[in-house]
Amino acid sequence: MFEIKDADLAGRIGKLYTKTSVIETPAFFPVVDVERQEIPLKEIRELGFNQVITNAYILYKRYKEKVLEQGVHSLLGFNGVIMTDSGAYQILQYGSVDITNKEIIEFEGKIGVDIGVILDIPTGDVDRLAAERSVSVTLRRVEEARRIIIDYPETLWVLPVQGGKYLDLVEYSAEKASGLEEFSIYGIGSPTVFLEKYDYRTVLEIVVSAKKHLKPGKPVHLFGAGHPLIIPYAVALGVDLFDSASYILYARDDRVFTDFGVERLDRITYLPCRCGDCSDYNAEKIKNLPKKEKIRILARHNLCMIKYYLDLTKQAIKEGRLWELLESLSRHHVRLYEAFRAIYEMKDYYSKYSPRVKGVVRGIRAYDYYSMGNPRLLSYHEKIQNYTPRLGRDVKRIILAPLPLDPDHCPEPEDLEKGEEYVLYYDPFLIVVPQELCGVYPTIHVHRPDIDIDRGHAETIAKKILMFLNNMPGIDRYSVMILQSSNYRSLSEELERFLRQL
Ligand SMILES: [Zn+2]
Repeated sequence: MFEIKDADLAGRIGKLYTKTSVIETPAFFPVVDVERQEIPLKEIRELGFNQVITNAYILYKRYKEKVLEQGVHSLLGFNGVIMTDSGAYQILQYGSVDITNKEIIEFEGKIGVDIGVILDIPTGDVDRLAAERSVSVTLRRVEEARRIIIDYPETLWVLPVQGGKYLDLVEYSAEKASGLEEFSIYGIGSPTVFLEKYDYRTVLEIVVSAKKHLKPGKPVHLFGAGHPLIIPYAVALGVDLFDSASYILYARDDRVFTDFGVERLDRITYLPCRCGDCSDYNAEKIKNLPKKEKIRILARHNLCMIKYYLDLTKQAIKEGRLWELLESLSRHHVRLYEAFRAIYEMKDYYSKYSPRVKGVVRGIRAYDYYSMGNPRLLSYHEKIQNYTPRLGRDVKRIILAPLPLDPDHCPEPEDLEKGEEYVLYYDPFLIVVPQELCGVYPTIHVHRPDIDIDRGHAETIAKKILMFLNNMPGIDRYSVMILQSSNYRSLSEELERFLRQL
């Protein structure tokens, strides 16, 4: 069962009910290894993760009798939510596993996992033919799994969507998957190979290609995504659940998450971090810890970074500021900037999901042209497209004037629909504000820097303003006059240029 509590862009805060507990989403599942776990599960829980994922294939190979007898929660000594991956990761690493789909599903069901995954074939970064094969074999196994999982109704089952970088295959795979009601969660496969190359854009394109066909009421798990910086972007496009071993794999390799990517510990002099361990130790002290203790501390730090970015994302959703968060984080890595710009191009997709009105009226921070991807501005643009300005009977002239940034400079309500002039305000972020809307949210709620916009974007915006003007009923009857903007000189110059051509 999944309840959506709040939303922004295509991202949401939700509650996922499993047999043992409730997870607030977006949530991250740290991968735990029953054989080698440098950081105890008790500590993982104290750091804010009441859910873990482990490998069902390894449990089956090494602890089969024991775990069948006592159950997975008792074996791990963890009474939070336990998810198991089916061995798909081993396939990606070593090519194959010696267990069938049916065997692993039944095993997961019998040992009592909260969330189970069928034995899919992760696509990875492969050629077209191999990708097609991974999709068709996975779909065949999905079909087979439908008949098996109904015997284990307490477990939430994940339906894997494959296809890798071949977006048409991802779409095909998602389309086939979307209607299968036996499954509670959709899982999008194998972004890890792309994340390791910082190819965030491909990962996000995979997510959107899948999401377009999946039912919005079910949670979506992105397998193997453990870079903290990808979290806000993936959530913004509709991912609810993440899992990864990267926090511990990097720790073993003396690497840490920072606000700007992954960095080697020996290159760090100062570790600017808000986590408890980094306050107790400094970078020099951590370098000098005994190996095992160092791995534990680095893993704790890495998990804290993931938690921090999850919380940052959730708070931004609450405030309706997720777009602004993506904007500001996009400067943390050039590949993130690439991802941010790719998301800007997906505005038709995410604006569909973004709530029109959030509880609290908040100012909008706008920096440049791409700030117009903010759903609150997009919804204003959409509204204005179908808006007919209310012109009084005596109007002879339309004045194009820069938008006042102070509500006191908006026309008084009693002066509207009187006189011979009608003011249509222009603005680089709002495009146009008819005089009767001046002061109405969000027309005077955009906080912006006091600098001009660049020429190319000024031209694009000027065209939009003129399009609005041309669509006004009876526009031929009026003369049009333009008032210069002192802030946005390039925009008023472009407008003048176009008006002269008319
Ligand atoms: Zn830290």
